Amino acid sequence: MDIIERKKTRAVRVGNVTIGSKAPIVIQSMTTTKTTDVSATLEQVCQLADAGSELVRVAVPDLSSAKALEKIAKKSPVPLIADIHYDHRLAFQSLESGAAKIRVNPGNLGGPDKLVELARRAKQFKAPIRIGVNAGSMDRKLIHKYGGATSAALVESALEYLEVIQAIGFQDVVVSLKASDVYTTICAYRLFSEKTSYPLHLGVTGAGPLHIGMIKGSIGIGTLLAEGIGDTIRVSLTANPLEEVKVARQIVQSLGLRQFVPELISCPTCGRCEVDLVTLAGQVEEILKNYSIPIKVAVMGCSVNGPGEAKEADIGISAGKKQGILFRHGQVIRTVRLDNLLNELIQELDFKKNQMSGKSEGK
Ligand code: SF4
Repeated sequence: MDIIERKKTRAVRVGNVTIGSKAPIVIQSMTTTKTTDVSATLEQVCQLADAGSELVRVAVPDLSSAKALEKIAKKSPVPLIADIHYDHRLAFQSLESGAAKIRVNPGNLGGPDKLVELARRAKQFKAPIRIGVNAGSMDRKLIHKYGGATSAALVESALEYLEVIQAIGFQDVVVSLKASDVYTTICAYRLFSEKTSYPLHLGVTGAGPLHIGMIKGSIGIGTLLAEGIGDTIRVSLTANPLEEVKVARQIVQSLGLRQFVPELISCPTCGRCEVDLVTLAGQVEEILKNYSIPIKVAVMGCSVNGPGEAKEADIGISAGKKQGILFRHGQVIRTVRLDNLLNELIQELDFKKNQMSGKSEGK
């Protein structure tokens, strides 16, 4: 199996989470609640953290939100990032309130001096800043120079902002270069990663509703991660943010960069299939959520071809009309009644789980 070689970047600490260097790709998401509604926001932060979001960003559009952040940060299970636009002073209050990182789009802060002021304050709090360059709010001079918000324009913009804060010795920075056009996004991150070693936050902005956004995000983020570029990701979706976390984890797992749940392999079915494999695969998907062991599990639609087609699976089931089979690496281990197939699979998974935990205890 080939393994992705990740580009080495600087490490940046966000509370107890490391972004960059050799740290695993960090999954993050953003709340959709009003931050002033402390209980609703805290509830969503906890849901996102439970789903696997290791950092959560919250909107800070005004001073009341920046102050409300204090109560949320105190109880949050994960470090919080304050999302600041237009008024850099909101970041100051957010840092006082316990934000572990600040995300700004310097293009709308009102000038480089505001960015410098912010960096000075962040330095005091040992909090990093994400410089989030966005194609929608780029400097006109760069748009004019490049004939639009191209990847080169996005990169030059980010480098200009970095120069401003590097001048005061501030380097705890994560960079994002977002455009809603997937290919522009990919080109921008590629170009930027050739020029610097700052850790990168990957995302395709305004990607759209669940289905479309999932595809755009997977292509944009997935392409870059496959090239070893990127240290933290957020999949933007016009959907429940829990979906963002699920998709983000799946992207990272699909590339073998991290494993959160067992990998599910299932066949597309064909005229040989004699069961409702869509339902069966869905049931197995639910079962696998209870396991965090690094194995591959196959669900195949016929006993004749299934085991052979899923040889790479550590455990697999193939279903026929009345009975099914269990197999390991293409070898049939037993035939079972169809109504008992899932129980048999669970037994196998439990056995593997115990085997693996025994191994790790013995180490
Ligand atoms: Fe068709 Fe069987 Fe292959 Fe599934 S495993 S695609 S049902 S031949």
